[in-house]
Amino acid sequence: MEEKTNINIPRGTRDFSPDEMLKRRHVEDRIRNIFQNFGYREVQTPTFEHLELFTLKSGEEIIEEIYVFKDKGNRDLALRPELTAPVIRFYVEKMQMESKPLKLFYIGNCYRYDRPQRGRYREFTQVGCELIGPDTPEAYAELIYLAYTLLKNIGIKNIVLRLGNLDIVYAFLENMGVRRNQFRELMHLIDKSRFYELEKKLYEMRVAKNKIKMFKEFLKCDNINKVEEFIETTAVKRFKEVVDFLKIFGINEFEIDMKIVRGLDYYKGVVFEIDAPILGAEKQLCGGGEYELVPLFGGKEVSTAGFAIGFDRAIIALEEEGYSFPEQKIDVYVIPVNEKMLKNAIKIVNMLRENNIAADIDLMRRGLTKSLKYASSVKAKKTVIVGPKESEKKCVIIRDMSSGKQVEVKTKDLLSKTKM
Ligand code: AMP
Repeated sequence: MEEKTNINIPRGTRDFSPDEMLKRRHVEDRIRNIFQNFGYREVQTPTFEHLELFTLKSGEEIIEEIYVFKDKGNRDLALRPELTAPVIRFYVEKMQMESKPLKLFYIGNCYRYDRPQRGRYREFTQVGCELIGPDTPEAYAELIYLAYTLLKNIGIKNIVLRLGNLDIVYAFLENMGVRRNQFRELMHLIDKSRFYELEKKLYEMRVAKNKIKMFKEFLKCDNINKVEEFIETTAVKRFKEVVDFLKIFGINEFEIDMKIVRGLDYYKGVVFEIDAPILGAEKQLCGGGEYELVPLFGGKEVSTAGFAIGFDRAIIALEEEGYSFPEQKIDVYVIPVNEKMLKNAIKIVNMLRENNIAADIDLMRRGLTKSLKYASSVKAKKTVIVGPKESEKKCVIIRDMSSGKQVEVKTKDLLSKTKM
């Protein structure tokens, strides 16, 4: 006898039930609306790209963390782990001539060979945008304001915005005598909060003990005035301008955090993260900032900045905070009481649907009682009962499902009665 195999969902992926999809689409619609409200336009890129796009951006190490495969033509491809590189590739290939600023947003699936846990999946959705062209403090302030507004306006109550600046961190390291090609490993350690190892590494790089101590103090700065006491550079002045514009846009609640380094070496200048503390370990909802990728992909130098929001985490945060998501309801469920009434009932359901009423009809030839039971299980607001006695009078019965009240109406008046 043939053995049966159980086919399970792959590790780190999820199925979304109709209820979950409703929540996701609801939040997605709001997100699209907000982006468009800020002058952003949606783009879509393929789910897989040439592997080189990601190794160019993040180094060969990325291969360990992503899904890589060969196609039948022996090309090295990868499922996208994020969308900034694909969108910038798209820009370099086809959009360089477009007028600036170019404001692009996306909503799409990403894939990472992560260790799955709550809020961390192997397939997940990122929502994000890229701002191409402007290099002004107001542009960066608007970008940060947009990320904050998105999360607030979809309904997340408790979020924490932290701002950092890599140009300042880099200037500090240069002042200490650290060479640019040594930044990367240091940034990685700061990103992972491995401060003991950071200290050791700096010591190995022959940075004086007092300087290392100062750097550690500098990383603890939580306001710009303190940062200024440590270092004077144009980067601090620019950072201050961004912060001032952020206040003009309307955000007064944020923290300054010099430890935000985003882990990847194509970031520069202003960087930011937004957390939802309710999410615990995987609390980071959004990360972004200024970066430089266009020249790396062969394009003409231009300012770029953007952010990515973890959509799945945003949904979890809303659920945890008790956000009340809308429910999908059927406006009218049409029940033919017997087979002879079917033709009439189909005409009625057609007419309702054509008039933009969410309507459904019994397709299982069930009796009235079972059909009513089904109607309440799908949360139908009303049912229309099509029976022979009423049909002779060109009438139907409308039943209000919450009160149970029934009225007989002329079929021609049905539309106005069901709209009530
Ligand atoms: P990143 O591209 O790593 O900066 O990630 C941007 C955002 O995507 C993070 O702040 C998370 O909210 C979300 N994110 C990253 N990796 C995952 C994952 N494996 N599962 C779910 N969300 C993720």
